[in-house]
Amino acid sequence: MWCRRECAGLVRGTTDHLVPKVKGGPSWVENEVLACSRCNRERGHTSPGEWLAECERRGWQPDGAAVLAALRALDRAIDERGGQRRARPYLAAQLRRLSLDLAAA
Ligand SMILES: [Zn+2]
Repeated sequence: MWCRRECAGLVRGTTDHLVPKVKGGPSWVENEVLACSRCNRERGHTSPGEWLAECERRGWQPDGAAVLAALRALDRAIDERGGQRRARPYLAAQLRRLSLDLAAA
């Protein structure tokens, strides 16, 4: 999702949570993206918007549109299922930030 390296062989694929679990992110498939183990480890609890900016700073070509689409799908899932009170404001802030970033790009 982030650096766009293909996960195979030495580049191990991992499950990364868009909204980190420490920020209230649910253990739902809608909150999970494929990330190489390096991105998962180095991102840590960094927000999707901040990590996208860091990926770009490193000269990678992250797919911001795919991240935004994944965040929107998670937002819809939360709307349908309810709950996730902690994740909602975090997600809303990320959706605002990424929408603005992509509009400016
Ligand atoms: Zn990566």
